[in-house]
Order: sequence, then C-alpha cells, then structure tokens
Amino acid sequence: MSEIFVVVEHRNGEIREITYQLLWKADELCRKGSHTLTAVVLCGEKENFISEINDRADRVILFEDERIKNFNGDLYKELLVRLIQEHKPILTLIGHTPWGMDYAPSISIKTGYPLATDCVDVIFENGRPKVVRQIYAGKIFSRVAFKDSEGYLITVRSGAFSIDKAGEHKGEVIKKDIPPDLPTARREFVAFEDAGAGAIDITQADLLVSIGRGVGEADKVPAMQELANLMGGVLSCSRPVVDKNWLPKYHQVGTSGKSVKPKVYLAFGISGAFQHVAGISGAGCVIAVNKDKKAPIFRVADFGVVDDLFKVAEALKAKLA
Ligand SMILES: Cc1cc2nc3c(=O)[nH]c(=O)nc-3n(C[C@H](O)[C@H](O)[C@H](O)COP(=O)(O)OP(=O)(O)OC[C@H]3O[C@@H](n4cnc5c(N)ncnc54)[C@H](O)[C@@H]3O)c2cc1C
Repeated sequence: MSEIFVVVEHRNGEIREITYQLLWKADELCRKGSHTLTAVVLCGEKENFISEINDRADRVILFEDERIKNFNGDLYKELLVRLIQEHKPILTLIGHTPWGMDYAPSISIKTGYPLATDCVDVIFENGRPKVVRQIYAGKIFSRVAFKDSEGYLITVRSGAFSIDKAGEHKGEVIKKDIPPDLPTARREFVAFEDAGAGAIDITQADLLVSIGRGVGEADKVPAMQELANLMGGVLSCSRPVVDKNWLPKYHQVGTSGKSVKPKVYLAFGISGAFQHVAGISGAGCVIAVNKDKKAPIFRVADFGVVDDLFKVAEALKAKLA
C-alpha cells in the first residue's frame, strides 16, 4: 500500500476547483488500488482550508507560514521535493495550472520521478499509472505509459474530473514545520491583480454568443454583436479574438480568460481547444457552429451545425428580426 499525494491549490484564501477534481480522481485510484490519499497544503498562517478538504483525504499534511501564503514557485518546489523524498508517494497529482506548470518539471528533475503533463485521465495498470493526453489541438487522444519508477508525477488538466466528493475520508491533520534551512526565494509575490469584469460580465450571462478565430476579421465582429443583442445574450470569445484586438480581454472564455456558466453557450467558429472548453464546463447547453465537422468542439457540444457561421448567424437574425 502506498500514498497518492494531491497538491492543494488555493488563491486569495479560497481553495481552487482543480483541487477538488484532483481529490476526486485520487479517491477513485485509491479505492481501486488500495492506496491512501494525502492532501498537501502549503498556505499562510490560520488559513482555514482543512475543514474543506479533510473529508476528502485520509491525511492532510499542512505547512503554514506567511512566506507560502501566496504562491511562490521556489519555496513550493523546495518543500514538495523534500516531502516527496521523505514519503515516496507512488503518485503525486498536481493541477496543470500556472502553479503546476511552474514547479512540476523541477520537482521531476530533483526527485528523478517521471512527469506526464496536461493529462485528462489516469488509470493504474500493473502497479504503474497510465495517462491519457490530447494531442494535435485535441483532435487525437494518446495513451502514455511510464517507465518503471519508485514514484510518478502527473499534472491534470482543469475540468477533466468531477468536483464532487466521492468516498468518505477522515483526514488526519499532520502539521509540518518549515525546515530552518529553507532557501530564500528568488521570486517575491507582489500583488494579485484581477483582470476585472470590464464593461460586461460574461460570467453572469445566461446566454453567451461566443466567437472564435473563424469570424476571420475584426470587421465581422459587429455583425455577431448584433446577433447577441437580438438574442438577448452577451458576446464572448476565444483567445485569438482578444490577441488580435477584435474584442477586449474581459470577453475571453477559457483557462486564461473566464470560466462561464450560461444556460446556453453558442460557439461560432471556435475549434474547441482544451484551454477554451475548460472554461465552459459549467454551461447548460453547448451549441457549436463550425464548418469543420471534425472540430473538437463537437465533442463537448450538445447540438452542432456543420456550416458557415455567417450563414447560420444570418438565418438566426432573420428569424429574430
Ligand atoms: C497557456 C495558454 C492559455 C490559453 N488560454 C486560452 C483561453 O483562455 N481561451 C481560449 O479560447 N484559448 C486559449 N488558448 C489558446 C488555445 O490553445 C487555442 O489556440 C484557441 O482556443 C483557439 O481559438 P479558436 O477556436 O478561436 O481558433 P482556431 O483554433 O483557429 O479555430 C477556428 C475554428 O473556426 C472554424 N471556422 C473557420 N471559418 C469558419 C466559418 N466561416 N464558419 C464556421 N467555422 C469556421 C475552423 O474550422 C476552426 O475550427 C490558450 C493557449 C495557451 C498556450
């Protein structure tokens, strides 16, 4: 029997959703493989995260110190490496987030444990994890096996698993002291700056008309705004639309934009890259319009139209006018 570690992620005093997803998957792996589940929390003093996670893990290892209240890749890496070397967990699950992308590779180098990044599923086969990753912009799923190792590291894509509480656990809390020889960090947390809601708040909309690179040019955006207005919805977009300055950043849906939860999400000319669809996992009904019938967006769509987006938009406008 061995441990599975889950690194708890939090920001501004709140546990992030990815933590619950990792705990859900770790619980499933523990039940199938008779492992135990350990949540590792690195946080500031008196940040009360324990009550939110200790019924989802067998053990909670807690480091509390003002130096680690906010994310600091140098210190987090140092503490996690030492903890992994001490406990030798068979598997450490980390979010594929800016945190995880920052320290997971260096933990792998320091511990010698192999790392698979951005995984959307994990199973154990013959005592070793196997993962599923998406390649070619989400068009193909690849299964990746590890070479034999004492332990393994996996970063998990946000939205890949449920946030629900699965098995019953009674997490024993183990407080750990910060080692006196913890090196001084080379980076310093300065401030957390929220991108802000902007002129509109896409997170509160019931109907989002969302546009992607498929609209082709800035001049076409007003026609899609008009459709959103006619439908009583709000215009949102994928990242290239923001990168090209067709719309301001606060319209962007996705991992580096906003997570949205409309009743209906209409995706026009959006391919469905994982960074985008991770932001719409809370949507009630997803309707995709794309001229490519193999576009990954159709995998998450409840309804799909394979056609030119402008043809569909004009037909909708004609009905609503
Ligand atoms: C660290 C990182 C963070 C990221 N964060 C985000 C994020 O938060 N949000 C986000 O969206 N992306 C994000 N991305 C980018 C992401 O990987 C994709 O590149 C992006 O989502 C693709 O946007 P798109 O679907 O609009 O464009 P494309 O992938 O170019 O897709 C355009 C689609 O339009 C279709 N199309 C073209 N013309 C028409 C037409 N006339 N009618 C119908 N369909 C048409 C095409 O078939 C295609 O499927 C991030 C990337 C990285 C590396």
